[in-house]
Amino acid sequence: MVHFVGAGPGAPDLITIRGRELLASADCVIYAGSLVNPILLGYCRPDCSIYNSAEMTLEQVFSVISDMEAAGRTTVRLHTGDPSLYGAIREQIDLLEAQGIAYDITPGVSSFCGAAAAAGVEYSLPGITQTVIITRMAGRTPVPEQEAMADLARHGAAMVIFLSAGLLGRVQEALLMGAYTEETPCAIVYKATWPEEKVVHCPLGQLEACARDNQITHTALILVGDFLKQVNHGAYERSCLYDPAFTTGFREAEKP
Ligand code: SAH
Repeated sequence: MVHFVGAGPGAPDLITIRGRELLASADCVIYAGSLVNPILLGYCRPDCSIYNSAEMTLEQVFSVISDMEAAGRTTVRLHTGDPSLYGAIREQIDLLEAQGIAYDITPGVSSFCGAAAAAGVEYSLPGITQTVIITRMAGRTPVPEQEAMADLARHGAAMVIFLSAGLLGRVQEALLMGAYTEETPCAIVYKATWPEEKVVHCPLGQLEACARDNQITHTALILVGDFLKQVNHGAYERSCLYDPAFTTGFREAEKP
């Protein structure tokens, strides 16, 4: 049996209880060493076999899993954040299914949630935006043409940009081709929930320069959009859900 587990964004106590219990019972753990906090490996049994997938190919990962399966052992495949985002789990699942190997998936706290917590913000701010676009800049991994960042930027929604901290010149240029302006607020969130976490705010026109000045080149998310004005107490609307004049399935509106 293979358990894909989301490790969370970094802080070791942000893995789920289920994820931690699976780590504690695993015979083998293959962890994404480029981003998973190694402190999490302290939850494993002393006799657990541990592999760092940052140094392995898909074939090597699968070969370890196959050997474990043949010996009747359990493997945890530990991915950073939530495995469903940029986790490359589908190619592993296809190999497992082809061999009839059972698996399940335990979600994790994605770094885009860790980044919002670090910045103290709500993405879906009433009256500002009700949409979060999660994307990346095309680099060595291409992005489908119809998802070009400049096109996604036309919405002016909240945007969270993964895997692009080293490409901020191009990110800035593409975002300015959409609904954002030089003044649109951005936040660069470096290593959210790790001890070395850093949140830097700047206007979009200074995004690249700001990352350079703060020496941030990797393991960062870029948040973009007017929702970030909330950190300076910018205007937004109250929620309907908690409005006294609003009836919900759980509460009658108060009489005026
Ligand atoms: N599955 C992961 C994302 C993996 S892709 C998730 O759900 O978060 C790796 C990218 O995620 C990094 O390049 C960076 O952009 C982002 N990332 C991962 N952990 C991060 C963290 N703690 N703080 C900021 N960005 C992070």
